[in-house]
Amino acid sequence: MTGQPVLDVRGVTKTYGMGETEVQALRGMSLTVRRGEYLAIMGSSGSGKSTLMNILGCLDIPTSGRYLLDGVDVSRLTDRQLALVRNRRIGFVFQAFNLIPRTSALSNVELPLAYAGMKAAERRRRAMAALSMVGLADRARHEPNQLSGGQQQRVAVARALVTAPALVLADEPTGNLDTHSSAEVLAVLDRLNRSGRTIVLITHEADVAAHAKRLIRLVDGQIVEDTR
Ligand code: ADP
Ligand code: MG
Repeated sequence: MTGQPVLDVRGVTKTYGMGETEVQALRGMSLTVRRGEYLAIMGSSGSGKSTLMNILGCLDIPTSGRYLLDGVDVSRLTDRQLALVRNRRIGFVFQAFNLIPRTSALSNVELPLAYAGMKAAERRRRAMAALSMVGLADRARHEPNQLSGGQQQRVAVARALVTAPALVLADEPTGNLDTHSSAEVLAVLDRLNRSGRTIVLITHEADVAAHAKRLIRLVDGQIVEDTR
């Protein structure tokens, strides 16, 4: 089930440095991702994946072109406004789980809700719901070091979901996991997509990318393949 564009990238370029040292990391890229899509981005090292991910995730802005996230033109927002968009509209999952040590899974998942001044009981309720979605309701009181790698990454996925973001952006989410744990995390992402979440998955592994329903391949800062 697809609908409105969640991501709308129009002729985006990104240039690092100037003159002699100038690097064109993205060379005029256009891409539309609709609600409910499950997209994998692949490409060899240096092809521009991280640059694109930083722009999609509002961690950086394009040199030229426009980027609309959930209908909002983020190309020219201030750092402060970008931070707000990041917090509310995007759920990040990184290769390193980035959980806070000696802190329960539940508290880790609650963290992104603290900004809004949400009442503690409501934060707790939403965090429990997100942990249930990744199949970890019974591990809510466990701390990261009491969980397997796959479980820790599922907590990170729950944390990404808890704000009900327009987009879940996963950068090599299985890069640090063994085969069994990878399968666990990918099963969760698959299930989230079946329930209507929009997922963009950056990976260099073809078997991970195969979980997505659409594949974009980058070469030298350009899209050379876009298949469904
Ligand atoms: P990937 O993630 O696919 O490996 P990147 O987006 O990291 O590719 O890099 C794309 C190109 O931009 C590469 O040539 C890289 O060297 C260059 N690049 C990336 N970040 C910077 C930076 N901060 N300053 C200068 N060049 C950069
Ligand atoms: Mg990279």
